[in-house]
Amino acid sequence: HLDRITKVDDQLNAFLHVDAEGALAAAAKVDADVAAGKPLASPLAGVPLALKDVMTTEGVPTTCGSKTLEGWLPPYDATVTRKLREAGVPILGKTNMDEFAMGSSTENSAYGPTRNPWDTSRIPGGSGGGSSAAIASFEAPLAIGTDTGGSIRQPGAVTGTVGVKPTYGGVSRYGLVAFSSSLDQAGPCARTVLDAALLHEVIAGHDPMDSTSINAPVPSVVEAAKQGANGDLTGVKVGVVTEFSGEGYQQGVLDSFQAAVEQLRNLGAEVVEISCPSFRYALPAYYLIAPSECSSNLARFDAMRYGLRVGDDGDHSAEEVMSMSREAGFGAEVKRRIMIGTYALSSGYYDAYYGSAQQVRTLITRDFAAAYEQVDVLVSPTTPTTAFKIGERVDDPMAMYLADLCTIPANLAGNAAMSVPSGLAADDGLPVGLQIMAPALADDRMYRVAAAYE
Ligand code: GLN
Repeated sequence: HLDRITKVDDQLNAFLHVDAEGALAAAAKVDADVAAGKPLASPLAGVPLALKDVMTTEGVPTTCGSKTLEGWLPPYDATVTRKLREAGVPILGKTNMDEFAMGSSTENSAYGPTRNPWDTSRIPGGSGGGSSAAIASFEAPLAIGTDTGGSIRQPGAVTGTVGVKPTYGGVSRYGLVAFSSSLDQAGPCARTVLDAALLHEVIAGHDPMDSTSINAPVPSVVEAAKQGANGDLTGVKVGVVTEFSGEGYQQGVLDSFQAAVEQLRNLGAEVVEISCPSFRYALPAYYLIAPSECSSNLARFDAMRYGLRVGDDGDHSAEEVMSMSREAGFGAEVKRRIMIGTYALSSGYYDAYYGSAQQVRTLITRDFAAAYEQVDVLVSPTTPTTAFKIGERVDDPMAMYLADLCTIPANLAGNAAMSVPSGLAADDGLPVGLQIMAPALADDRMYRVAAAYE
């Protein structure tokens, strides 16, 4: 995999940092354990992985795709990083991403865009485009992403790979640099459903270091993926979300989705249509809630404790240094979100904007709850279109935001959701993703359906 990275990453820019030494040392330790007759630390011991650069790694650069954190060496490992190390998973390096995970194309990285291995003139999705591109291009068999509004599932869909957003609280956020804390969730990226399930079980579980971590048994997703692999969905009820179709959807995506639904039916599933009327308001609600939380979370980048410091020459006040550093360190999208969020949270506007968005969030959660009384899982296309061209949407934030139309509801409700490859679109020959959603803590249900469909 290190050779493969050397060979193709110049064209893709999936990695921001390659840690060959660290990866080889971890692999050597697995070899030594095997030679000494010790049992493997996990089923994934020795299987290398690419880690999104939003997850802290002790002594290994962590930039979050931002100039602000250029050269920062975290003093500690995220819980996900620690679990991977304990499982004997060699970490090949850190993958490119939209700055602080804000974006849908990886074009908001301060270190240049990542390119889609299927067509290098196109985006690999975002914010975790580096992780999904690394898998699609065989630079790594596994990767970790984080999904606040779709950043694991959407890159998975447009690169023809599997991407899973576990139930919120299912995987620890300790050491995941915060964007929108009530939505952020780390999860597996892989080429097959079973690979994703194996990685899911390595990283999931309760963590006292994260106050929103769920203290409940990890759903048996590996078992569910194995069960699903027999291809029998008799007795499973699948709901097709009626709101996710029509205007704005590419014909090739809709056709692929219809074929996927037909296949689920052929596997024995009972398919019904389900309306979730509040999902129409998910995108606007998200673009108030996520920027609000981001404006608060990113206040920590004050140029005093760590990160880029500009103007520290004795001629400027601390306030000026903070402002000059943030001006120089953050890109345009991050600044846009900080401004939207600060406005939405300001007194006089708080109730009208943030308050209303939170009410919409409750309505969406209720729509999901009502739907899951009738069906086991919900399905939709993962994204309205296939991978668009690099540069096509950079000047139009609204067009960029639409990439997450179908993925955001599951984040707002804290539910589980994943994207599984659904073939190539007939109109442009690019990968399409099928989204499968399940109730909170029922991650195993969607793995079963995904494995049957795969
Ligand atoms: N594209 C969405 C955004 O820009 C989602 C990002 C994410 O999931 N991190 O906020």
